[in-house]
Amino acid sequence: MLKIEHLGIAVKELQTSIPLFEQLLNTPCYKTEIVASEAVSTAFFQTGDSKIELLEATKAESPIAKFIDKKGEGIHHIAFEVENIEAEMKRLAALGFELLNQTPKKGADNKMVCFLHPKTTNGVLIELCQEIK
Ligand code: ZN
Repeated sequence: MLKIEHLGIAVKELQTSIPLFEQLLNTPCYKTEIVASEAVSTAFFQTGDSKIELLEATKAESPIAKFIDKKGEGIHHIAFEVENIEAEMKRLAALGFELLNQTPKKGADNKMVCFLHPKTTNGVLIELCQEIK
């Protein structure tokens, strides 16, 4: 894996969290994007080589709504940038990690993504992402 591409943080309301993180990080939110397939609205901040992704649920069945119900707001996932997402998915599946999607899917911020089930990664939701070129 190349680097930590971003940290995903589950929030209740982007409307209040975007200005909060703009103050905290002293950098403007550079992009907001709805990912309909995941029922989330996202906001991105650049911090050096890595990013912060804020995630707000767009409906009650959204995985983010369920996460906040269970655990409250906070760190939701760690995303690692990979060079070849299919090869990395194959490598990890062979080692016994459980993939939440069997083929890469379109994520936010121009990425193909795959998530690993937290039960096989010490409770941490892991996202693999590869930039779409
Ligand atoms: Zn993410």
